[in-house]
Amino acid sequence: MDLVVCGIAGRMGGAIARVIHQTRGVRLVGAVDRPKSPRLGKDAGELTGLGRLGVPVSDKIEPWLKGKPAIIDFTRPAASLGYLRRAAKYKVPIVVGTTGFSPGEWSEIKRLSRSTQMLVAPNMSVGVNLLLGLLGSVARSLGEDYDVEIVEMHHRFKKDAPSGTALALASTIAGAWKRDLNKVGVFGRKGIVGVRARKELGVLAVRAGDTVGEHSVIFGGLGERIEFVHRAHSRETFARGAVRAAQWLVRQKKGLYSMQDVLKLRQIGLTK
Ligand code: NAD
Repeated sequence: MDLVVCGIAGRMGGAIARVIHQTRGVRLVGAVDRPKSPRLGKDAGELTGLGRLGVPVSDKIEPWLKGKPAIIDFTRPAASLGYLRRAAKYKVPIVVGTTGFSPGEWSEIKRLSRSTQMLVAPNMSVGVNLLLGLLGSVARSLGEDYDVEIVEMHHRFKKDAPSGTALALASTIAGAWKRDLNKVGVFGRKGIVGVRARKELGVLAVRAGDTVGEHSVIFGGLGERIEFVHRAHSRETFARGAVRAAQWLVRQKKGLYSMQDVLKLRQIGLTK
């Protein structure tokens, strides 16, 4: 399977190129980064520590799309939307790991997915997706007497907050308790905020050093506290998930998919 990676010069782009190199049956045929990037024209293999691959970094994706590859995109929301539009136009499968889409951008993604196979997931790791699958039943079993707080920690370079994963975790719990996250979500606290409202769902973002990604989901009751913690040790976990998602996606019908579909968590009853 031929793959084009968008955001090749980024932290995730490099990790994905290295996983593609180690994975049988897939090969990197195209490498894209932003216009005016100093990396344009450089060899993607040399850029990502793999040695020469003969794939120059370009700011144009179209020349590769005629060969019907699959796209893996980890860039930023406006750029990803451009690649999703082109995937729809050329009817090629696309996996997007970018986070921070606005509700309007999500509506456009849903519309575009009528034309081709699209998978958009804020977290491609098996562990986080397992957690997402479990949390709905945990929340329903515990009942609404528990206070939920989600704390996420990422590296200092991360641009969006809270993380897409923290939002996905929060909306899973809100959904299980039939609450609207837009109404009950509390994204940080300061000053005399008063007693915690029963229905609040707290989401707090920490930015420190080179932390790859950590999420804690805390259910606080009277007399006990339950915590679920996921720590990503390296970006390889996300990169492996992205390549696995692309291999899975090419075999599906057009439509919008998530990592829960790839990992078959629905079939084993972990999600609704
Ligand atoms: P990064 O800043 O290191 O890399 C982003 C790359 O995209 C850069 O090389 C940048 O030049 C490039 N870019 C910007 N505009 C572009 C354009 N128009 N066309 C092509 N390339 C363009 O960021 P990162 O740490 O690699 O993260 C990228 C995104 O992936 C973020 O949104 C992050 O939150 C997300 N992320 C998702 C997961 C997941 O599992 N889904 C995991 C880690 C990071």
